[in-house]
Amino acid sequence: AQLPSVTVVGLGPMGRAMAGTLLDHAVPVMVFNRTASRADAVVAAGARCATSAEDALYAADLVIVSLTHYRAMYDLLEPAADRLAGKVLVNLSSDTPREAERAAAWAARHGAEFLTGGIMVPATLVGDDTAYAFYSGPRAVLDRWSDTLGLLARPEYVGADPGLALLWYQALLDLFMTTLVGASHAAALMKSAGVQAGTFLPYASDLLAQMPFFLEGAAEEIDRREYPDVGASLAMMAAGIDHITVTTEDAQIDSRLPAAVRELYRRALDLGFGRHGSGSVYEAIVAPSQ
Ligand code: NDP
Repeated sequence: AQLPSVTVVGLGPMGRAMAGTLLDHAVPVMVFNRTASRADAVVAAGARCATSAEDALYAADLVIVSLTHYRAMYDLLEPAADRLAGKVLVNLSSDTPREAERAAAWAARHGAEFLTGGIMVPATLVGDDTAYAFYSGPRAVLDRWSDTLGLLARPEYVGADPGLALLWYQALLDLFMTTLVGASHAAALMKSAGVQAGTFLPYASDLLAQMPFFLEGAAEEIDRREYPDVGASLAMMAAGIDHITVTTEDAQIDSRLPAAVRELYRRALDLGFGRHGSGSVYEAIVAPSQ
């Protein structure tokens, strides 16, 4: 059978890695990017480079979009929107679930099928065994294209609602980024006393290695919305974050991170969870104060 023709729209690090991986698997690739010079390396590796959106869409069976945000997709493809009919559009750019809903409706208006994707590895790991991507939208479309998309990252289907893949993507990124900012904050506290981040690192890593245990307990509690005190009450933890915030202020480093966490614990105290387990801080997150 003839291999499908894939157009990759966007040649940042991610789009270049995707085009390169498809070429490695002998998939015919066309690329399209606002800045044409970014195509040089993939063209040298065998891709064709479209000079217009019409070109980019004309021969494509599958259009993979990898841009900074969804707005860039409209900037690039709207001028040739009448060429979208019958195409399959897969957007693996980051944006909000709301934007994904809007894009699915836009694609449908132009007669195209649309999948939302959220790729969960850095560009350097595209095509690696560990790579996976969340997809939402019509399941049949993913099933039809899973062999080709699977060359980039193992597909994980999360539901028909177009926004879902980005919600899964964002929830993990939320955890990742807040953890990294937390680690930077802790390092800044240690540096304020002249302790190198590298000296602190083994202790930080050991703590994070224990997190699956805590996450498991938290997931159970959150799903049941019951928070037994098994030795770490909310009131005790609220006092702890008070101390951290004051220590941070004393060290004259930015205290907004612990102060925000302190606010959540205080709110949960106000809601009456002081004698419950500290997982009850969740209740403050879902019932924010006005
Ligand atoms: P970039 O943000 O560097 O993507 C740049 C691409 O977007 C370029 O092709 C650029 O064109 C294009 N672009 C931006 N704005 C516009 C616009 N207004 N009109 C037309 N084109 C535009 O990101 P990456 O390649 O790193 O990532 C792509 C997507 O993948 C992002 O949404 C990112 O969040 C996501 N992602 C990236 C990961 C990574 O490790 N890099 C990991 C997981 C997800 P030009 O070349 O002309 O500037």
